[in-house]
Parts: sequence; C-alpha cells; structure tokens
Amino acid sequence: MALARTWSVGLAGVQGAMVEVEVDLASGLPTVVLVGLPDAVVRQSVDRVRAAVVNTGHDFPLRRVTIGLSPAAMPKQGSGFDLALAVAVLAGAEVLPAASVRDLVLLGELGLDGSLRAVRGVLPAVLAAARAGHRCVVVPQDNADEAGLVEGIEVLAAATLGQVVAHLAGRARIPAHVRAAPAPLPPGPDLADVVGQAAGRRAVEVAAAGGHHLFLSGPPGAGKTMLAERLPGLLPPLDEQAALEVTAIASIAGTLPLGAPLVTRPTFESPHHSATMAALVGGGSGQIRPGALCRAHRGVLFLDEAPEFPRTVLDTLRQPLERGSVTIHRASGSATFPCRAQLVLAANPCPCASAAGDTACTCSALERRRYQSRLSGPLLDRIDLRVTLPPVTRAAWLDGVEPPEPTSAVAARVRAARATAAERMAGTGLSLNSQVPGRLLRDRWSVPRRSLTLVERALERGSLSVRGFDRVLRVAWTLADLAGLATPGPDQVAEALGMRLQRVAA
Ligand SMILES: [Zn+2]
Repeated sequence: MALARTWSVGLAGVQGAMVEVEVDLASGLPTVVLVGLPDAVVRQSVDRVRAAVVNTGHDFPLRRVTIGLSPAAMPKQGSGFDLALAVAVLAGAEVLPAASVRDLVLLGELGLDGSLRAVRGVLPAVLAAARAGHRCVVVPQDNADEAGLVEGIEVLAAATLGQVVAHLAGRARIPAHVRAAPAPLPPGPDLADVVGQAAGRRAVEVAAAGGHHLFLSGPPGAGKTMLAERLPGLLPPLDEQAALEVTAIASIAGTLPLGAPLVTRPTFESPHHSATMAALVGGGSGQIRPGALCRAHRGVLFLDEAPEFPRTVLDTLRQPLERGSVTIHRASGSATFPCRAQLVLAANPCPCASAAGDTACTCSALERRRYQSRLSGPLLDRIDLRVTLPPVTRAAWLDGVEPPEPTSAVAARVRAARATAAERMAGTGLSLNSQVPGRLLRDRWSVPRRSLTLVERALERGSLSVRGFDRVLRVAWTLADLAGLATPGPDQVAEALGMRLQRVAA
C-alpha cells in the first residue's frame, strides 16, 4: 500500500475550501509529479518538502511520486499546502500510519530545515475544516491562537515537521492548544481630545447613529482626520459573526497581529491617495489579497484629501460600497470579499491646502471650483452627510469652557438611536437610516408635511434635487432617533438640510 490521503485548505476569497491531498508511490524513475491546478508557489513546494523531509531525518522516497490536489478544478495558491504534502508523502512511504493522517487537516509552510512557518488565512481555513466535519487541525505555532478562535475543532500547534511526525507516529504527542485569554485592548482615540469643532463632532455622531457616509470639508488643521479616526469608537463593537469576518480578512491580508486576537472593534483604514487600485480594492499576483476597502469591512474607510485620488479609483468604490462586496478578477482566478464599510471623505477647500486665514493661498476662484468638482459624480451621490468645518479659531480654544464630551457618552446616544431605528425597521431587513431606499422614505416612513416647509422651498428654488431631498430625510430620521422623537420635526429637517455642502450641487 503506497497510497496516502490527507487534507489541507485552499482559499477562495474569504472562504476556505477543503483540498484533499493524495500521494501515490509507484515503482519507476524517481520523480515527483504534481497534478490538480497548483500555482507556481505550490509547485516550488515540492522542493521545500523534499528538503524538509530529508533535514528532518527521513528519506524522500526514490520512486515515482504522484501528488494530487483535489478538487482539481479549484486553483490552489500559496505555500500553505507544504505540511500536508510532506505528511502525505511520509504516510505513502509508510513512515507514518496512513490511518493517522486520513482525516487530519494540515496547514503551514515548510522551511528547508523542516521548520514550520506561519501562513495567511488560517482562520477561514480552520472554519472551513470545522464546517466540513474535521475534528483536528495541525497549524504552525504562530497561527495557533488564530486557529483557536474556531469552536469545535482540536488545534495542534507545531514548530517543526519533526514534531508533527513524532506526534503522528505516536512517539511524542503534541498537546491540544489552549488559547490564551486575549489581552485587553488599549483604548482607541477619544472624542474628548477634539476641542472646539462642534459641527464636526455632531457630524460624526450622526454618521455613526445612521450609518451615513460622510464628507468633511475644511481647511487643514480643522480636525478632519481627528474626527474621522474617532468614528469607529462610536460604532457598536462587532458581533461574533462580524468579528470572524473581519478577522478572516485581516488574516488573508496579512495584517493580523501575531498572537491574533479576534478583531472585535470596527477597523479604520486610511489609504493614501497615491495607493494603487490593488492596494485600495484588492488584487496582487498569486493569492488575491483584500485591499483597504475590504479591510474596512464593518468599519471606516477614510479617504483624506479625497480630490487627490484619481477619479477612476473613486468611481470604482461606488458599486462595492453599494453592494457590500467586491469581486476581484485575476488570471489566477477571482475572489469575492465583503466590504460593508462606512466611507468618510475629507477635502481641503483648495489645491494649495494652506491654512485658512493664511494669506499665502493664491488659488483663484476657478481653481477652487475645479478642485472641488473633482469629487462630484457617482460616489458623492451616495454620501448623505456633507459638512463644512470652519477653521478652529483661537477663540474656540480659549472659549472651551465646557470640556468636550468623551466618546463613551456619545457612543451611548448612538447605541440608543440605532436601537430605535432598528425597532422601527424590524421585519424589513434594514436597520440603519442610511440603508432606507427613497421609495420607503416617501411611502412608509414619510415625514409630517408641516416639518418639510424648508426642504420644499429648497426643492422649488432648485437648490435641492430629489436625490438630495431623500438624503435630507434620511439624516432627519437619524437626528430624530438621536433626539428620541417619534418622527422628525422642523428642527431635525432644518439641521439635516444644514448638514450638506451648500456649494456641491446635489
Ligand atoms: Zn489655495
């Protein structure tokens, strides 16, 4: 019997897919044949496996070795199959009992010396293994805590191929990994640090309560970045399902810190305007990696100096943000990642970006208009809140009689407002005001006529489009939820109307 089978896991987007590894040893010229759509990295795997096996003190079989990866139609990428290949070869050569590896799931890259190295995507891989009914998974030591996030599957953590062989041969058992309690998270940035800027503070509170995308315009130093960074702290912590999704994305992106605690806080991603499309949306050669947009899933995607981003890049974001997922196509295949992110755009009033009141700005009115118009279009159409921040004046600093409210107090209001909205929308599949389609805004949750005098006048004057009208209503509902009102009154509608950039044609 020179046939052995074991299991590993491939990745398709953010999902793990079970891959059966089969090894057949036959007489013939010593050679290794790999079948089943492996990519270049997997093909190099054979050389790593050979060296690791030999350096662990075993002979690599001098026979015709056929390694099959199935299902054959699924592309297999990366170095995570090394361990499964090595173990299957050793089982085929009868160094290990074939029965001991039959239902085992093995993940990890091998060093030439037989050391076992961490790989990306272990969380989604182990989730897939548990779902497929496997009871035990072997992972590299550095991936152990990440693998341990999955319930209902035993995790064995090893540092070398030698340890895995000793365990399977029954010479030295590897104890089941016990996940260390995660260290408490350091506090995130707090709204109490933002002095002055009442309009900006209000804007992030409303954005958090209604899930609205936000556009902050204002001179440098007005606190746009500070405010945006504090938005995740106002959002509710991730529930279990969301936490697993976000952690899986970070794992595949390679941004999960070692020791890998579960990501339980909404993330904040702030790509630079020079970022490539691959960095922003996702891509890369070989294994497709999620970009900043996907890493911001269930969190905040902040585009500072938004007019500096290429127009094509900004327009690319629109559909994924609407759909909540993005599919990336590459020659090696395609991958779909979730990206339900809240967008915050920030822009300076002019291209020279000199501080307000700074006489150095020489931009003409035309240049300013042209700069601002770079943002118009489909993306801006999706943004409910458009707020212009005034420059923070000396007076605001000096007048800071009342200490600014901390994140905890504002987050409590946000929580209550979200609960009110979710209750109103129960049974509709919606939970946030930003998600409510215009049709429902007008039919099901119409705002009392007497509250609408201001917006109707704006509609008549032409300073507000029908789309803009819907946006005002969405925000007015959020303001009502924050104020504990059953429906938006004239004050909420007026404030919502004010929370838009007057100069951007809606
Ligand atoms: Zn300027």
